[in-house]
Amino acid sequence: MRPFDAQARAQYTVVAAVTALILYLHLTTVFCVRVAMPRWILLLFNLGPVLVLVNYYLACFTDPGSPSPNYEPPPQTTALLIPIIDSTTDINSPSSSIHLTSSAYLQQQQDPFNESSTADRTTPFCHKCNAFKPPRTHHCSKSKRCILRMDHFCFLAGTCIGYANQAHFVRFLVWTTWACWALVGVYILRLETVFSAMVYGRSDGIPVGDGEVVVIGMNLAILTPVVSMVSMLCWNQLDLLVCNKTTIESINAMPTRAYRYKSGNFDLRENVWDLRSWIRNVEQVMGPKWSLWLVPDMRCVFHHGSLRKRNEDCVWLMEGHWFPISDELRERLEGKLNAK
Ligand SMILES: [Zn+2]
Repeated sequence: MRPFDAQARAQYTVVAAVTALILYLHLTTVFCVRVAMPRWILLLFNLGPVLVLVNYYLACFTDPGSPSPNYEPPPQTTALLIPIIDSTTDINSPSSSIHLTSSAYLQQQQDPFNESSTADRTTPFCHKCNAFKPPRTHHCSKSKRCILRMDHFCFLAGTCIGYANQAHFVRFLVWTTWACWALVGVYILRLETVFSAMVYGRSDGIPVGDGEVVVIGMNLAILTPVVSMVSMLCWNQLDLLVCNKTTIESINAMPTRAYRYKSGNFDLRENVWDLRSWIRNVEQVMGPKWSLWLVPDMRCVFHHGSLRKRNEDCVWLMEGHWFPISDELRERLEGKLNAK
């Protein structure tokens, strides 16, 4: 259990505020806004906030995942080959004499007369955690630790979004966007009936309740910035999923740097993680079954702390410590390797 520190307190405060806002918007709509709608739409309408809250709590309280304390980069002589040729190699196997431990690496870096020290500078190493960083891992200054496939630190969730909780976060955003637009639709429909009753004197609709227009006005004022922000975030996350990029990678062009470590001197200025198939890219985060992409994944509640296997296609030497590359890039790199 995480100690109840300042960050945990801040997270609980944010979670309570977001929960209160969602419940306020939903309950005021249910009890104050008089809209007649078919039962099945009513069911979907009430299911919205449940899906939003379940995915929100899963995103907030699932550990985003940190590198294993035993993680060491693959031996340098075979580092290039591992992701490209041999997907079954155990990267922890002591097959090379230059397999460095993190303390040996630090010593080597500090020794100016050590010839290999300059060659090793591209090896991702976190000087705050004093440990090697697997590809796509980033040190989070707020969480004060390295996060596997870190996307960003989310103030809305009060935690880092990384390898193990990004799927929950994406589901939360998709369902929130849907629920917000559903609310806006309900308010516009009701306002249209209310104004036609006032202007044209129609009395066929449900009579206007006490304070109903005020509640709709207040909720619309709250929803306008919320729906704009959430829709943009959702669109951004879906765009990144399709391209197989994290927010950090899209800002820093990190794939180039991350890949240079395992590809020696090959200077690849492209997104090496793009599998050239948007479905495979999305699968890497959301899971192999498209029919379950938007269904809350409760398995982590029962297996808390364990990172689950997501995609059989991926090269899961160690979960979250390595990611596959496309066949096209593999062939190109093999060609370069053979030409050397
Ligand atoms: Zn770190």
